[in-house]
Amino acid sequence: RKAVPAGKGHTLSLRDIDNEALKVVRKLLTAGHEAYLVGGCVRDLYLNRKPKDFDVATSARPEQIRRVFRNSRIIGRRFKLAHVFFGSKIIETSTFRTNPSEDGGAGDSSGDDLLITHDNEWGDIEEDARRRDFTINGLFYDIEHEQIIDFVDGVADLDRGVIRTIGEPEVRFREDPVRMIRAIKFAARLDFTIEAESWEALLECAPDIARCSRARLVEELYKLLRGGSAKRSFELMLEADLLQHIWPAYVNLYSDPDSGEVGLRRPSRARPPGQPIALFWRYLAALDDYVSETGQTPSNGVIQAILFAPLLDGMLLEAKRADLDVHVDDLMTPPCAALGVARRDRELARQIFMTHRRMLLPSRKRGRRTSLVQRQYFHDALLFLGFSVEARDLDGNALEHWRQLAALQAREPSDDDQGGGG
Ligand code: ATP
Ligand code: MG
Repeated sequence: RKAVPAGKGHTLSLRDIDNEALKVVRKLLTAGHEAYLVGGCVRDLYLNRKPKDFDVATSARPEQIRRVFRNSRIIGRRFKLAHVFFGSKIIETSTFRTNPSEDGGAGDSSGDDLLITHDNEWGDIEEDARRRDFTINGLFYDIEHEQIIDFVDGVADLDRGVIRTIGEPEVRFREDPVRMIRAIKFAARLDFTIEAESWEALLECAPDIARCSRARLVEELYKLLRGGSAKRSFELMLEADLLQHIWPAYVNLYSDPDSGEVGLRRPSRARPPGQPIALFWRYLAALDDYVSETGQTPSNGVIQAILFAPLLDGMLLEAKRADLDVHVDDLMTPPCAALGVARRDRELARQIFMTHRRMLLPSRKRGRRTSLVQRQYFHDALLFLGFSVEARDLDGNALEHWRQLAALQAREPSDDDQGGGG
């Protein structure tokens, strides 16, 4: 156990910590429990990044947490924890627990089946550090003494810019294969490198990813795509052979029997810019630019549109309305069904494509503009048009035109605002 005090080892300040998270920790301490900030928020504060959320770890059991906070609820079965509510804000508060596979809690029958199926074995702070995925995610912050508590050499890895599993990487990846995607997510987002042994194990375990539930995989893919480092994440996902195992039906759409090209490869300068593979990387770059410039996260529909736009090729710009409609459906339905992408996400992507087409028509053919601007998905379509303009080097006039209309529309009171039924 290492304690890294303020001034000497870190520049974390209580001022950067969410007030409600501080309240939760203080109240637990007052009630006689141990309580710390933990995980992603400690990592991000150490790196001078803004944490997405602040999680609390405590010695209090869920029922005890519940008793300390009237504004709380116990959630989860596989992983029980408490949500403490402050208006719409939630502070996730979880009890110290051990890795269930280490004390016989998981995989009762065969020893080589490491997959964790439940995760509610209580433990102490050190066990709680060690059951976490990566050293950089295994740190606690003690607000009383303003020090980081480090059982796993996470501070050293933060300093070095390294993603390293806590414990044996192969074991940790087999226990929960989603950790492989998480390793890539953090490497891409923080611009860290995955330490050699962890990377070797990741390559070894990549096929295991197919054992995860599709719902969890879809969610992780969305996280990678919305995270601001989609391009780097997908380069790594392909390099590790993970994407091929998660979503072969998608990757194979990029195979080209003529050139012998198999699946989606990393971007190459030699490739003509209009080709699907080159377009794929250009759309991701446009998406990353948007996320890092605005801090906004596009909807799942926009994300799906980005994933399939490179494959629509000229159709997206030139096809007749009905042809595009049919083509989009034929293209998207099989791979989306294979991964279990929600129908509404796919449907929104289709609407976006149809609207994109209409937005680019010569103005005399665009029809009643106001009706288009008022559609629910207009803003998603406008956002996507921006990505297309960047990825395909399109003339930006149409984009400008629709942006102005959108701005006008935003200033005028809409029918909805005037109350009454409609
Ligand atoms: P983000 O900034 O993306 O939220 P995070 O590190 O906070 O990153 P979360 O998914 O919010 O990630 O999880 C919170 C913490 O829970 C992590 O920092 C890590 O300690 C632990 N954790 C999350 N997922 C896993 C996992 N699959 N295996 C082990 N520990 C995990
Ligand atoms: Mg988090």
